[in-house]
Amino acid sequence: MSLGSDLGPKPPLGYTASTLQRAAERRSDAQYLAALEADRAARAYAIGGERVVLKKTAGGLDPLFTPGEARALARSTETVFLGLVEGLGRFGVGLDSAATEALKARHDLHISDLRSIAIQGLTDADHLAAIAEAKALLHWHARHRFCANCGEATYLVQGGWRRDCPACRAEHFPRTDPVVIMLAVSGDRCLLGRQSRFAPGMWSCLAGFLEPGESIEQAVRRETQEEAGILCGRISYFASQPWPFPMSLMIGCHAEALSSEITVDYSELEDARWFAREEVASMLMRRHPQGLTTPPPVAIAHHIIRAWIECHGQAPV
Ligand SMILES: [Zn+2]
Repeated sequence: MSLGSDLGPKPPLGYTASTLQRAAERRSDAQYLAALEADRAARAYAIGGERVVLKKTAGGLDPLFTPGEARALARSTETVFLGLVEGLGRFGVGLDSAATEALKARHDLHISDLRSIAIQGLTDADHLAAIAEAKALLHWHARHRFCANCGEATYLVQGGWRRDCPACRAEHFPRTDPVVIMLAVSGDRCLLGRQSRFAPGMWSCLAGFLEPGESIEQAVRRETQEEAGILCGRISYFASQPWPFPMSLMIGCHAEALSSEITVDYSELEDARWFAREEVASMLMRRHPQGLTTPPPVAIAHHIIRAWIECHGQAPV
């Protein structure tokens, strides 16, 4: 079998195709933001924790409300400025999580979560990156209402891109937690793992949070050794992906495995093992005889694995 040529057109990577202009230079202009928000053509996503509110329309599900409509859905928290779409303001409105769950009773709305929206294609794909941005930013606000320096209540500034402390004057910026996600390869086989929360039969790349003072390369080697006992040498960067669950950045890498005997850390993984390239190709294409699979194209793991299959025997490290 000629691997690589059978995989078909490359699907897009989830949450990366943003059509928003962030217009960061306008965030400090409160008057400008207020005028944008008051414009009748301004639109907002309504998000309560993990839940996203979608409007049922004749044409399908619509994630856009006016900012006022979004705030009227349930008890609201912050309104954040996401950016501009064709010169018009696009916002994120935070809703109380339990009150959003209660909106499931309304027949004119559909309450879902971002993973389902992405995988099931419930909205146009160009909303995914903007909803991811809104969700991650609103999550940060929900968890950072008090100053980490002195404990005083903080307040939102810069359209939601900073919180300031009135007592000690500390400025707090939204954070993103970097995660390394890697495929360790050795010749014609690669290392995949399973977490117990995965769908039955699904295997994926190993992954873990970067620690303070660590490079990406060091984190890849440490996590692979900790979770599967495999030593890695060369590391190559592949691509990255915003992963708003709740607010991570996935840093995709390939790693050259230097050892072969696996020791699974069962506190992290249900299992880990080597897979031959041909078998992984069948998993990726959903043609595996036992129904084993790899993650769907919305996840960067799919693309990391696919890139290795398509490299025709040349490990991409
Ligand atoms: Zn403070």
